Amino acid sequence: MTKVPEIFGSMVFNDKVMQERLPKATYKALKKTIENGEPLDISVANVVANAMKDWAVELGCTHFTHWFQPMTGVTAEKHDSFIAPQGDGQVIMEFSGKELIKGEPDASSFPSGGIRATFEARGYTTWDPTSPAFVKDGSLYIPTAFCSYTGEVLDKKTPLLRSMERLSTEAVKILHLLGKTDVTRVATTVGPEQEYFLIDKDLYNQREDLKLTGRTLFGAMAPKGQELDDHYFGSIKTRVSEYMKDLDEELWKLGILAKTKHNEVAPSQHELAPIFSTSNIATDHNELTMEIMQKVAERHNLVCLLHEKPFAGVNGSGKHNNWSISTNTGENLLNPGKHPENNLQFQLFLAAVVKAVHEYQDLLRITVASAGNDHRLGANEAPPAIISMYLGDDLGELVQSIINDTEYVSQGKAKMKTGVEVLADFKKDTSDRNRTSPFAFTGNKFEFRALGSSLNIACPNYMLNTMVAEELSEFYDELKDSKDMDSAVTALIKKTFTEHQNIIFNGDNYADEWVEEAKRRGLLNLKSLPEALSHFMSEKNINLFVKNKICSKEELKARYEIDLETYAKQLNIEALTMISMANKDITPAVSAFVKELTDTALSKKSLNSAIPTSVEEELITSLSYKLVDFVKKTEELKKAVDGAHQYSDDNLKYATYFREVVFEKMQELRAVGDSMEEITSAEYWPYPSYSELLFGV
Ligand code: ADP
Ligand code: MG
Repeated sequence: MTKVPEIFGSMVFNDKVMQERLPKATYKALKKTIENGEPLDISVANVVANAMKDWAVELGCTHFTHWFQPMTGVTAEKHDSFIAPQGDGQVIMEFSGKELIKGEPDASSFPSGGIRATFEARGYTTWDPTSPAFVKDGSLYIPTAFCSYTGEVLDKKTPLLRSMERLSTEAVKILHLLGKTDVTRVATTVGPEQEYFLIDKDLYNQREDLKLTGRTLFGAMAPKGQELDDHYFGSIKTRVSEYMKDLDEELWKLGILAKTKHNEVAPSQHELAPIFSTSNIATDHNELTMEIMQKVAERHNLVCLLHEKPFAGVNGSGKHNNWSISTNTGENLLNPGKHPENNLQFQLFLAAVVKAVHEYQDLLRITVASAGNDHRLGANEAPPAIISMYLGDDLGELVQSIINDTEYVSQGKAKMKTGVEVLADFKKDTSDRNRTSPFAFTGNKFEFRALGSSLNIACPNYMLNTMVAEELSEFYDELKDSKDMDSAVTALIKKTFTEHQNIIFNGDNYADEWVEEAKRRGLLNLKSLPEALSHFMSEKNINLFVKNKICSKEELKARYEIDLETYAKQLNIEALTMISMANKDITPAVSAFVKELTDTALSKKSLNSAIPTSVEEELITSLSYKLVDFVKKTEELKKAVDGAHQYSDDNLKYATYFREVVFEKMQELRAVGDSMEEITSAEYWPYPSYSELLFGV
């Protein structure tokens, strides 16, 4: 039996290790850097580096790597060994403060959205001391930020760190206005709930689509899907539970607070939720979690699918970004307390979030847009593409009473009777669960539910932090010279809720009426990535990022170009994979099956012309017509893909073309393919079926 407290964080250069291994003065200086962002002296860095190296070598490390999050969507690493030649043919293990602080990976092969020409490809990684270093696979990993030689941001971490600073500065100013002068810093906190599929590796290896694109591009629905709701929270199969146990242990070693695991709605779908931490660490940990999930799966002859929509016809996978703001004095600013009606501070922060989500609903939609997530958002699946907020009955009521100057009657105080003697009556949750809202208040935090399962959470979080920082700074300007702070704050809250109440929706987000209602309210319904991205570079959005010094207009433009280009590239790969599967596997398989049917019919006839061959003949006819259609649609898809190049000098047009032309052709081809699968012998069909994939573990 492994003892969890003993293994927890055993691979992390955490506070305990630092205290044990660093001289007091060095430890103090480093803490100041970590907690207050103070610059670190090179002599201190040298001592820290040496201690890190000794610790890592004891754990079996031979190498170190700067670990960063370029705009590719996956983390990047480049390993250097600690060896230093001694001139006598011997080496010693060395690691300097300079190596700890700064790295110089060749940046030319990372996407930059045209920010930088290849000849000035130099990029730098700089140590982020706020996220602890760790040991994995024989290397010391140093979390870093990544920027170009000329200072442009090339990663996802830098804007996140900047946005946390911005929010802290603005929140502290507001808190000081309200008399909370003991607060010197606030931090945003995040707990990302991660969904994933687990499938058998041998089956996975037989599917070109899963291997190349992460999702099935063909596949007739299994006779059983998720209609019985028997998988959600169901008992976990032995093979899966062994995987989960192994996974937990690996995550705990890395200091990741893996807490909850359960089966999800779709067959073979599961979820892992950690205990929340600061946004920065939560981001690094979520990136690590996704990587470890895939690695541990290998050991169990499984594959962990993080794609947003691996299977048509059952739920896709998302990530719930639970988000809140806490002060360094330990207060959660989104905690309504017992009497939210008297809690002006809470109301003011709530108002800032409401205003932010309303004014920047396009950015929230943009930040979760991806080729994979397009299959969920706007496709009758959780959650919808329309961004709105759910506050629950209680807070909804409170906001209404503030807008209308009426008395607030709390409903949440009501006790709920369970009706069972042995169960104690429990206090009804003040925010009832609304599973359909993309942005829901859940007691003392907001849960942003529109994220795709594979997304790097840095992006939604820096957007969220920045927009709320902006609103708080506007609030500050409006309040700072007020003589009577209470009445000024009260008036501002009322004004804000009144102007932005349209973003609040407590009803069913899947209902058709909501689409109509949202339109009347002037809310956006951006169904695909190209549609969403076309709003990215608006004056309002550029101002937000430039004014708050998160990134420049050029950097924003680069992100815009990269997102569109990546989307087009992904659809291009999917289309080419479909064509390859169609031509090399499906068409020959169906044709061979038809031949067998024909041979059977002919030999029956030659035996005795009275033997009925109608079954074969009907199948031959049906499949033959379908096959003609299938080959025709394959050619059409090929033509559609070939036609894309004429738009390739304008990424928005290029991506839109892929969405509107290529994607539609892919759907058409798939429909015919799936209808052939339904009537083709399993012996001939070249791929494992949905039944095998979804129920094969
Ligand atoms: P549920 O979504 O079922 O209500 P929980 O209340 O346990 O589940 O929370 C879900 C996630 O929200 C967990 O990852 C949890 O750590 C995180 N969470 C809880 N409180 C906060 C907070 N103040 N800030 C950020 N995340 C939080
Ligand atoms: Mg949740």
